[in-house]
Amino acid sequence: MSGTDLLAPCPGDAGPVLGLDIGGTKLAAAVVTADGTAHGLVTTPTPHTGDWRDATACLFDLGHQALRAVGARGIRAVGIACGGPLDGPSGMLMSPPHLPGWTRVPIGPLAAEAFGVPFVLENDATAAAVAEYRFGAGRGTATMLYLTVSTGIGGGAVVGGRLHRGAAGNGGEFGHIIVRRGGRLCACGRRGCVEAYASGSAIAQRAREACGREMTAAGVTAAVAAGDPAAAAVWAETVDLLGAAVADLVNVFEPDLVVLGGGVTRAGAMLLGPVREVVAREAMPPAARAARVEPAALGDRVGVIGAGVIALAPPPTGSSRPGLGSTHTGPPRAASSPPRGELAASSPPRGELAASSPPRGELAASSPPRGEFAASSPPRGELAAGESVEAGTPTGFEAARIEVSAGLEGGLEAALERGLEAGLERGLERGLERGLERGLEGGRGPMAPAMVHWLESHLDEHVAVASALGELTAEIRAAGELICRRLAGGGTVYTLGNGGSAADAQHLTGELVGHFKRERRPLPAVTLSTDPSVLTCVANDFDYADVFARQIEALARPGDVVVAFTTSGRSPNVVSALDTARARGAATVLFAGGAPGAARADRVLLVPSKSTQRVQEMHTLMLHVISEMVDAWAAGEEPGP
Ligand SMILES: [Zn+2]
Repeated sequence: MSGTDLLAPCPGDAGPVLGLDIGGTKLAAAVVTADGTAHGLVTTPTPHTGDWRDATACLFDLGHQALRAVGARGIRAVGIACGGPLDGPSGMLMSPPHLPGWTRVPIGPLAAEAFGVPFVLENDATAAAVAEYRFGAGRGTATMLYLTVSTGIGGGAVVGGRLHRGAAGNGGEFGHIIVRRGGRLCACGRRGCVEAYASGSAIAQRAREACGREMTAAGVTAAVAAGDPAAAAVWAETVDLLGAAVADLVNVFEPDLVVLGGGVTRAGAMLLGPVREVVAREAMPPAARAARVEPAALGDRVGVIGAGVIALAPPPTGSSRPGLGSTHTGPPRAASSPPRGELAASSPPRGELAASSPPRGELAASSPPRGEFAASSPPRGELAAGESVEAGTPTGFEAARIEVSAGLEGGLEAALERGLEAGLERGLERGLERGLERGLEGGRGPMAPAMVHWLESHLDEHVAVASALGELTAEIRAAGELICRRLAGGGTVYTLGNGGSAADAQHLTGELVGHFKRERRPLPAVTLSTDPSVLTCVANDFDYADVFARQIEALARPGDVVVAFTTSGRSPNVVSALDTARARGAATVLFAGGAPGAARADRVLLVPSKSTQRVQEMHTLMLHVISEMVDAWAAGEEPGP
């Protein structure tokens, strides 16, 4: 995945970098020099406000604090270490289980912008493994495994002097070795992983169950020391199962050294002793003899040093180094250059930085293809090579728009093929992500970096909202069934809305009167008029809030169904229309967004977003899902509701 050798020594006079470590419990920042030393280390608890922007703002503030603390000037790069899954080249965090709400966070580009230097993003355990191998307990070894036993359990492996990363860079998930088949549920979705027993959060959870009170992992070890038998039983199981996982790893890799780091290892001998015993007893004798089990020599600093060390590694010549050639590389900023200090002497002057970071205009030409996306997008590759684009080949926003539409369509199909409930969330997410990725790919080239960035954040938000729609599947299905039932009974569908929602109302009518995908008979559907003559007549003689209610009164009968769209859930003319529909015995369906508003209906599809744009996009998505259901029923593929 990377052309960079993270284990290669870097020149002793290479300038410092900034390391940012994102944990589920704490954030840390430090300036890291070429000798693997962390300067100006600052930490703070990770804010869990539900909005990742709060945490990234806090993280970047820490970074600036660290820079000020050491007077560092002209850092070369910013290294970011975080739990996966992540995409290093694009600097994107996918949705790490220890960071709820962090869905597709472009942390690399954001950090590049905040500090005005290139970014490198790496899995935190891999980064810590590199740090221990180069500057800690692993110095001089050939095969070294690193396990971080923290909020979760992660790992990294150096095998025969080479960093093992796996096909897509996410290898080394040692926390998900199963130590008890069918055992406790793990955050990864499987049962019996070692993480579900020996991570800090799992220890706390098990202690709560066994001891009947709230305890942290550190509290458990304190209780064991104080002679608490229930805590002792929890701890004995913890170290036994952790030992079993390490013994498996020793059998598989036959390493010189297994390094244990992370907060839980602060238990010291209480943890190391039993783990060593299990390994000695259970691993194959030659491997068991070869492998030492040691604590991380870099201690609590291993995370942030790891984050720095990945950014220290020199890019290979003719570099295709992740992040470094990216269009996300922000311009140098005055704000990231605090006053001169000790470290200033060893940092390269700005001129050198500029030489290795071409100005924005040239970046498109010199930036490397982005891994697999590039391989599937030849036009982008051609652009990157600086060749001209064929006439008629869509570029920039147009390509992005086409690909995002195709992604959405693919997501919908996948959802429908696999059944609505099971498939919707996954299918949509996958489809949207593909759309996002291809869209971004198409968006490179002639598009200005700021525009790419804007598109990214827009689409990230879109994907996050679409993913959250999974919770609405039951309600979407119920709404679709209600419409099918009423149509089957001879009812008519009336749709209504204001502005963009009026367009959604027309859209649904179009799908019903025409057809969605299949050939079938036309179905009775009417969109209430928003023609100026009707509006001025009703609003003038009665009230604007009566514009739709008056039409409903004229048209709707028991057995019909009224479908209303309002992004706020509060539009007075929509509220009154639904009230009138119910009074006339018609069924009602409401497409809304944000918090529940004044509008009432039999079925409410409430998009969990406060953004009008996102709500309208999701309304389109949901009306397509319903159109698909109606299509399948009307074409005779599905039995009548
Ligand atoms: Zn697991």
